[in-house]
Amino acid sequence: MQHTIAAIATARSPYKQKFGIARQPGLVPAAEVCIELQPEFNADSVRGLADFEYLWISFIFHDAVSEGWSPLVRPPRLGGRQKMGVFATRSPHRPNHLGLSLLKLERIETGKTVKLYCSGADLLDGTPIVDIKPYIPFVEAKPEAASGFVSGKPQELAVIWANGIGADLPANERALIAQSIAQDPRPAYQDIPERVYVMNISAYEVKFQIQNDTATVIAVEYAD
Ligand code: SAM
Repeated sequence: MQHTIAAIATARSPYKQKFGIARQPGLVPAAEVCIELQPEFNADSVRGLADFEYLWISFIFHDAVSEGWSPLVRPPRLGGRQKMGVFATRSPHRPNHLGLSLLKLERIETGKTVKLYCSGADLLDGTPIVDIKPYIPFVEAKPEAASGFVSGKPQELAVIWANGIGADLPANERALIAQSIAQDPRPAYQDIPERVYVMNISAYEVKFQIQNDTATVIAVEYAD
């Protein structure tokens, strides 16, 4: 029952570490990734793809492979305390470490390397992509479907910037940072107002604190 699959592309993502990555696609619209196809995939292989608005991206949770898998996992949505069957979750810790994300296709470049620019990503930088498929709403959109313990969009934090920090950031980078923090990247059971969280995102090291439902960005520096 063994099948060998090879990466067809690599995701270039602003998320340089797992901490701070949105837990599902679409929650951080400003998170744009560039999916770079391997050289053997030329413009022919994406002919007609630009006419689709969303893409299914199949990938490997490459940074979770060494952590193995477990039949029972603790979804953050349940506070990290309650266990669910791995196949009832979107956990990275699954037998084949396969992930699936529905990303918005922004544009395609068909130069020497074919590049797909997609927004709303929940992918770590360097993620190996194993397949790309167009999203077909008339067969795949089931907005009324029952969704178990995952009912609706998670509560977002308000994000404020202390003392004009980040005022000189490009708007898209500021949005990326604010939208990512608003998803509350803390471990689900953690509530330590004095704690300083550090997130490496795009070219920056961002420091913030969270009290009640508000996150305060206290520093943004260029990452080494
Ligand atoms: N939408 C996908 C799915 O349903 O299969 C991913 C959901 S998973 C809960 C999203 C989390 O996976 C991110 O918040 C990040 O922590 C983690 N992640 C993203 N890319 C990864 C990678 N290449 N290796 C390991 N973990 C990764």
